[in-house]
Amino acid sequence: MNPSTAAGPHAAAALRASLAAATPLLWCNPARAVTPPPVQAAGEHSISLADVEAAQARFARFAPLLSALFPELAGTHGVIESPLVAVPSMQTALGLPHSQGRLWVKADHSLPVAGSIKARGGIHEVLEFAENLALRHGLVGPGRNEPEHYLALREPAARALFGRYQVAVGSTGNLGLSIGVMASALGFRAAVHMSSDAKAWKKARLRNRGVEVVEHAGDYEDAVAAGRRQAQQDEFTYFVDDERSLSLLLGYSAAALHLRQQLAAHAIRVDAEHPLFVYLPCGVGGAPAGITFGMRQLFGPHVHCVFAEPVQSPCFLVQMMAGAGNPSVYDFGLSNSTQADGLAVPRASELAAGVMRPLLSGVFTVADDTLFEHLALAWRTQGLRIEPSAAAGFSGPRMLCESPAGRDYLARHQLEAMMPQATHLVWTTGGLFVPPAEYQGFLDKAAALAA
Ligand SMILES: *Cc1c(COP(=O)(O)O)cnc(C)c1O
Repeated sequence: MNPSTAAGPHAAAALRASLAAATPLLWCNPARAVTPPPVQAAGEHSISLADVEAAQARFARFAPLLSALFPELAGTHGVIESPLVAVPSMQTALGLPHSQGRLWVKADHSLPVAGSIKARGGIHEVLEFAENLALRHGLVGPGRNEPEHYLALREPAARALFGRYQVAVGSTGNLGLSIGVMASALGFRAAVHMSSDAKAWKKARLRNRGVEVVEHAGDYEDAVAAGRRQAQQDEFTYFVDDERSLSLLLGYSAAALHLRQQLAAHAIRVDAEHPLFVYLPCGVGGAPAGITFGMRQLFGPHVHCVFAEPVQSPCFLVQMMAGAGNPSVYDFGLSNSTQADGLAVPRASELAAGVMRPLLSGVFTVADDTLFEHLALAWRTQGLRIEPSAAAGFSGPRMLCESPAGRDYLARHQLEAMMPQATHLVWTTGGLFVPPAEYQGFLDKAAALAA
């Protein structure tokens, strides 16, 4: 945890050297604003809390239908959500003293239906596409826009309509799972373009659900580009574009509204005296940017969101540092190879980066060995069963509290005296559907590293 990000060309050069050497580091965002200007979403209208609420309202309209389609949602009446859990044993094991606050986990690794954070964005975009089709064909609409009317979307008329369309996506795995499963449940045909590094079990799970899996030899970016190209040639294919989609981003953002209720239910205050630090694993950036956008709408400057990336795939970090253009991690001599397959992305979403410019606190990197160490620790101390990507946030709190860059951030924001009342929230982003043998392999790997 060495390099600092104090201003100046010398520090910038040191940061680039650490980046290229794949040394874990923290970069803090000099453009973060206490009172940000209206957030412009890349050529679109400016987005606000109303858009976050609209996404949540869409989930609510579809809840009875989702409950009917997915038995596992009966208990929550169609709401796809995850618990907020205190993890005191994990905090002790990580060596984060109480003088620096309390550690909590937002347990998206247990999100039903998709098994990862992608349930929020991916499902939202499929629902929005289905809703727009249904509106255009008069299946729902004025006077018929209550949740019970949306239940009719499982009837033959709607399914025949949806069956004429294909929903396609490019994915390293989890986004494909979320889009593929939801699209095929609604009656769409579904195609997922996957990179060669996607896990075999994710491909198998999709194929078992009738989703077409198209494999591509290159990386995640190549899979997205191939899917996008194919979709452009077919007017009945709707392509979910992970690198450019506002619907995805806003689907993720709705998490903030539910989290606000959970924080209140646990009597966790968020204000100037009680800062909230949120650590979010980052791939292309849509999920953590959406959540950060929502959180900053609700908690203003008192929430500090930090992204976590593998040392070989820090695409969001290089994007934010560059400020302009769309650099890739390969430009820095990095390999983009990581066991955190949900985060194996060489180039950030410019949409997400633009939205994050005035809102994000920073980005840190984590070595793959540390992911496995923390994956095993989460299991041993708290019984949390997470995948490697989902472990990326756990080195965040100490990085922030102990590295020179982090201490500088806390000092600049006059947070040092508030740290005993601080809340550190690590977002665990995937794991529910990892097969037992695969998960045992993660634990074995952690044990081998510790030996
Ligand atoms: C996709 C994913 C992320 C990050 O989401 P992006 O939108 O790609 O930044 C984090 N964790 C897991 C497990 C994921 O699948």
